[in-house]
Amino acid sequence: MIVVIKPHTPPDLIAEVIAEVEKLGYTAHTISGALQTVVAAIGDETTHTTLESLNALPQVERVMPVQKRYKLVSRESHPEPTVIDVDGVPVGGSAFAVIAGPCSVESEEQLLTTAHAVKAAGATLLRGGAYKPRTSPYEFQGLGQEGLRLLRLARQETGLKIVTELLSEYDADLVAGTADVLQIGARNSQNFRLLIAAAKTGKPILLKRGLSQRIEEWLLSAEYILSAGNPNVMLCERGIRTFETYTRNTLDLAAVAVAKRESHLPVIVDPSQGCGRADLVPSLCAGAVALGADGLIIEVHPNPAEALSDGQQQVDFKSFGRLMDSLNPFLKVMGRTGKA
Ligand code: PEP
Ligand code: MN
Repeated sequence: MIVVIKPHTPPDLIAEVIAEVEKLGYTAHTISGALQTVVAAIGDETTHTTLESLNALPQVERVMPVQKRYKLVSRESHPEPTVIDVDGVPVGGSAFAVIAGPCSVESEEQLLTTAHAVKAAGATLLRGGAYKPRTSPYEFQGLGQEGLRLLRLARQETGLKIVTELLSEYDADLVAGTADVLQIGARNSQNFRLLIAAAKTGKPILLKRGLSQRIEEWLLSAEYILSAGNPNVMLCERGIRTFETYTRNTLDLAAVAVAKRESHLPVIVDPSQGCGRADLVPSLCAGAVALGADGLIIEVHPNPAEALSDGQQQVDFKSFGRLMDSLNPFLKVMGRTGKA
């Protein structure tokens, strides 16, 4: 950490800061400029007590951490990209993953026809919520255990791996009994006990970025999962809340580039929640591939106009097929494999 002392601070008050730094186990190196003094506190910030409390001293201008707060998630700790093995399907590295399927599991016919359609178009993982986080308690909440049964059936019929949301820590074992990947939704991205419970199931986790979550906070949420002993986390950018109302959320592609730079974890883009409009989904997918994302999670429905949730942003089978074909040149340029 770097402790910046206010200009014109007398030596005895600078010595007081140095004493505090050393009391907390750091070695203090003082750099004196013409006007201002800076104290570099040398020591492992992840094991030492933070010096941020020194901000309370009147002679301290500010305290700046040097090391990353996310240790296991950072690229420094793990220079090679992490490749997650989802029961035989790689996510990360040169593999490009396409997760597709309905927002919610609604019926056997809806799920199975969608599973076959997305598989035929080249997806390798099937999404579908059985437990849905809805803004209003009067909206469709998902089929619950029946939804999980249908997801198992779809996997049995198509071989697609299942991505489904874990809404509550009470359901961790139940949902992990079906899921190949547990999705943690945007509204739960800082529900730390849920993150730990999800981690402990041992299943790979797709961690959505929160609606108002800063990139550092998102990476720290991932750190909760890694530090609980589960290294298999996919970061998922799904749009954030901004002043813009033309789109449902603002898909933050810059955050994808930052996450790729800062972390070794695979980064997945969700253009469906990201913009909330089916017509914009193909362009955002192309942008995500070109930017170096490791995969996409796309909402697909046999008849979006009749969907029980998020109808406005789901693409139909024909559009999904066209979209997948349109990604080929981008995947080739980026040296990605994984799509049929
Ligand atoms: C979803 O994937 O359908 C969903 C609810 O996502 P999010 O948590 O990103 O809103
Ligand atoms: Mn949805």
